[in-house]
Amino acid sequence: MHKLTLAAGLPREHFSGIVDGKSGDRGARLTDMLPVVQAHYGVFEAAYTVADISGVAQGTWTKTEREDLLHCYETTAKALQQLKTLILDSQPEGIREVCPYCGIGGPRQFDHYLPKEKFPEYSVHSYNLVPCCGVCNGKKADIWLQPNNTRTFINFYLDSLPAVPMLDVTVQWSVKNGKLVPVSIFQLVCPAGFGAAEFQLVSMGCCRSR
Ligand SMILES: [Zn+2]
Repeated sequence: MHKLTLAAGLPREHFSGIVDGKSGDRGARLTDMLPVVQAHYGVFEAAYTVADISGVAQGTWTKTEREDLLHCYETTAKALQQLKTLILDSQPEGIREVCPYCGIGGPRQFDHYLPKEKFPEYSVHSYNLVPCCGVCNGKKADIWLQPNNTRTFINFYLDSLPAVPMLDVTVQWSVKNGKLVPVSIFQLVCPAGFGAAEFQLVSMGCCRSR
């Protein structure tokens, strides 16, 4: 597991650039919404800490506003493509080629850490875009908080990650169809000095992404 690096530049300016590429009624509506969305950006960025991010409140939007905000991410606008490239290029070589959730797939998609269906205002906020593979993106879906308001998944930009291996494997022999076959048993082990809350977050994320 490796931490990710936030992309340079002000998220509100990335958003403005994407809105500038819109035309017609949608472009006009989004331009009118800029101050309100940027105010939400300020609240989100102030709460963008391990302790506070789970308390970010959902905005209240009309159906049209939701559609317009979500369209900012669904578009093929040049500014959005540039933002995606910037996020990928901000990651160190060797890390940018793999999905942070599984460490296997290529990061061909972006997960919205705060699900965009619940937080359409952050559909193109760079802090909220986590490069990942399609499999992990599909499994994470719009999962976000547990019933007790704790987060379900690691935030690879924010959370502390262990510097030592956490996955322990034991190989045992088992009889199957009259033959001895090796069976691998995997277990997450909390490293010394690693916080219990962080370990629980890692554990829940691993269980969900299997
Ligand atoms: Zn993955």
